[in-house]
Amino acid sequence: MTIAIVGAGLGGLALARVLHVNGMSAVVYEREASRDARGQGGMLDIHSGQRALREAGLIDGFHAIARGEGQDMRLLEPDGTLLLQEDTPDDAPLDRPEVDRADLRDLLLDSLPEGTVRWGRTFASAEKGLLHFADGGSAPYDLLVGADGAWSRVRPLLTDARPAHMGQNVVEIGIPDIDRTHPDLAAMVGRGNYWVLGGGRSLAAQRNGDGRVRIGLSFYGTDEDWFATSGIPFDDPAAARARLIDLLPGWDPRFTALIEACDDTVVPRVISTLPVGLTWPSTPGVTLLGDAAHLMPPVGEGANMALLDGALLGLALAGRPDDFPAAVEEYEREMFERTGAAARMSAELQEVLMSPDAARRMLAFFQG
Ligand SMILES: Cc1cc2nc3c(=O)[nH]c(=O)nc-3n(C[C@H](O)[C@H](O)[C@H](O)COP(=O)(O)OP(=O)(O)OC[C@H]3O[C@@H](n4cnc5c(N)ncnc54)[C@H](O)[C@@H]3O)c2cc1C
Repeated sequence: MTIAIVGAGLGGLALARVLHVNGMSAVVYEREASRDARGQGGMLDIHSGQRALREAGLIDGFHAIARGEGQDMRLLEPDGTLLLQEDTPDDAPLDRPEVDRADLRDLLLDSLPEGTVRWGRTFASAEKGLLHFADGGSAPYDLLVGADGAWSRVRPLLTDARPAHMGQNVVEIGIPDIDRTHPDLAAMVGRGNYWVLGGGRSLAAQRNGDGRVRIGLSFYGTDEDWFATSGIPFDDPAAARARLIDLLPGWDPRFTALIEACDDTVVPRVISTLPVGLTWPSTPGVTLLGDAAHLMPPVGEGANMALLDGALLGLALAGRPDDFPAAVEEYEREMFERTGAAARMSAELQEVLMSPDAARRMLAFFQG
């Protein structure tokens, strides 16, 4: 039986690895040309997803790349009031460490037999047991797993649902090598997460393993076309930084100093989600995992759920190698319940972030 996985993100790779450790093989088709074709982004907070890495036999490798001190947290209001500071003791358990997304993906990629991932293969369509790729090639499958992220091309085989904009637009900026270039700001941000929330805006700064501080500036209550009218000139980084500061009236100068210190990478991101609790009738021969199945607000659940989906689907298939439809149905039943709960929790958290008194409500959330 041929298992074809579309997408070499965390979810697809976790599935391939758990199948491998259970003596089953799969082929992963990935549209990127190589593992380094695209930057993988910043840090991920991995908590429930650690179970998947245990099932994959990779938990020691994970501990070697995880940053425990990344659990540090500072929460502030736009006027500069510090509401919460949590510093992680050296001997604290690695409950929610941060890990560089590229390191985690490399850990999974390096754990697979040579040739498992077929790079440069963009899935276009599937019919009668054949996958068709954008370059005109094709390949057979018995089970097709769509692990192809937010804008999945496999998803339409199971449901008409599509991601919808959720009223949040993010601008990503960053300060390279912050310890050397801006030691004062490095001390202010600390070793982990630094959040300023309030008034329909947020600034989330986070130290990465390579010494860069990545900053996400979120604008809530904005629509899908907001970037076109925001007045942020993305082709002129210095002017874009100045405009971003204008969009944060009344914010403490220490926060706007962070924006002034950024380099010329200014990336707009439009944030969309799938409907909370999305399901579909189980269909032999095809299923979904990760963002393709349940794209959620970016509040720290998506990668964990994708890893768990991959591992649990792998275990279900290994448990019923002669009955894939039953294995898929069993996987989907558990996945719908687990990820539905995570999506509801993420939507609630998102509502807190979007509120005018977000920092105080977030403090209550952490303390509750
Ligand atoms: C700014 C931000 C911060 C986040 N932080 C966290 C966090 O701290 N913790 C957390 O748990 N989650 C976090 N998330 C969510 C997390 O990144 C995603 O939920 C997770 O990466 C989903 O994994 P995936 O494997 O389903 O999809 P992806 O990682 O998106 O992988 C999909 C893969 O499919 C490939 N692909 C797409 N289309 C095709 C095609 N047609 N043919 C072949 N290949 C294709 C893509 O190239 C990609 O490699 C964050 C998200 C954002 C935007």
